[in-house]
Amino acid sequence: MATDSPKSTVELHQLRLDDARALLERDTTTALPSPSENTVAYLQSVIDGLCELSLKDPLTGLSNRRHFRAMQEKTIDGVARSGESALLLMLDIDHFKKVNDTHGHIAGDHVLQAVAQSLAKCVRPMDTLARYGGEEFAVILPNCQTSYGAAVAERIRKTVEALDIDVAPGVSLRVTVSVGGAYAPEWIRSTTSLWTERADVQLYRAKSEGRNRVSLDQQQEIYVSAEEKNLLFGHLALGDPAWIESVPVDSSSATNGGVMQRVN
Ligand code: GH3
Ligand code: MG
Ligand code: MG
Repeated sequence: MATDSPKSTVELHQLRLDDARALLERDTTTALPSPSENTVAYLQSVIDGLCELSLKDPLTGLSNRRHFRAMQEKTIDGVARSGESALLLMLDIDHFKKVNDTHGHIAGDHVLQAVAQSLAKCVRPMDTLARYGGEEFAVILPNCQTSYGAAVAERIRKTVEALDIDVAPGVSLRVTVSVGGAYAPEWIRSTTSLWTERADVQLYRAKSEGRNRVSLDQQQEIYVSAEEKNLLFGHLALGDPAWIESVPVDSSSATNGGVMQRVN
């Protein structure tokens, strides 16, 4: 004879919530509801608050690397399904070590916060802006046409360059950023690391060509690496139709000048 499974009810005093509550009280702006009024609503708020914290960089409030990686995967998925353009920008503050060495680490932290705030004003709500590491930031711009991507990257560079950052009474600094960017190869399920690598190559180029500049991978120059071909054939094995760009397209040819092969 079937019996009803026992219903378990949660008593708040059975849970160790002190650490979670302390974290949320210190690091988030949203107040928790009263635990005595509605236990479920209270616990849900604690969980939501912790999830939010786990996706943010504590110094700047931007997305952290974990959130960024998840959004990058989601974007690659969209690009593979719909062929929409998506641009990845990697930004690195120029000669940032000098800021720390000259003005101290706290001043360096102020600079990171000020740059983060100014970057947030340069992107759309649909874009993902993250602190990628130390003095590096990254932006994913889904649904981004080539001319728009170049304009955003240049806007970012100019905005940071024009920023006066107060780091101590009467002490104001200016910094610059180098920006590298790459489009996700359309119709292809690439990987986060291959895409990031392409943007990094451009960032390296911007640095080596003098810093405070933008270098973007031209979409027409995108070719399919051996690794991406493997990924592509992996999908064929699952029966997914896919496009293969079978030859590299040089920048002098039209966008669709390369031989595109439909493979079913
Ligand atoms: P480049 O133009 O080649 O990028 O030179 P750079 O000096 O910016 O690069 P480098 O990698 O030599 O130095 C980065 C510095 O960023 C060193 C490190 O101490 C500092 N840094 C990393 N994270 C933080 C942080 O959270 N706060 C502060 N204040 N400094 C940080
Ligand atoms: Mg760096
Ligand atoms: Mg740097």
